[in-house]
Amino acid sequence: MPIASTLVAALALVGIIGNGISAWLLHKDSEKSLNARGAFLHMVGDLLTSVAVFISAVIMYYVPIFWLDPLLSLGIVLYITYSCFSLLKEAVHVLMREQSPQPNWAF
Ligand SMILES: [Zn+2]
Repeated sequence: MPIASTLVAALALVGIIGNGISAWLLHKDSEKSLNARGAFLHMVGDLLTSVAVFISAVIMYYVPIFWLDPLLSLGIVLYITYSCFSLLKEAVHVLMREQSPQPNWAF
């Protein structure tokens, strides 16, 4: 069964717009609050996923490269893992009542 690349690309565009707006709205607060930063990073991860789906849908419309989607997904997993560790490190600092990098970082 052929992949409905046009539908996949259209849905990915909806995801790019929705996740892009959400990430943009959360960006300002992400510098002041660890919770908002977690939400912001989640939205950036979702945005990157939508971008990867869009790119692979456009490419697969012309050439059936089936390993492209999992390859792009692995790249996103690496980004999410990397950003999770910096967030986790800061959360552990707050939980251990160490000096927080921002005055109201935990709230
Ligand atoms: Zn999500």
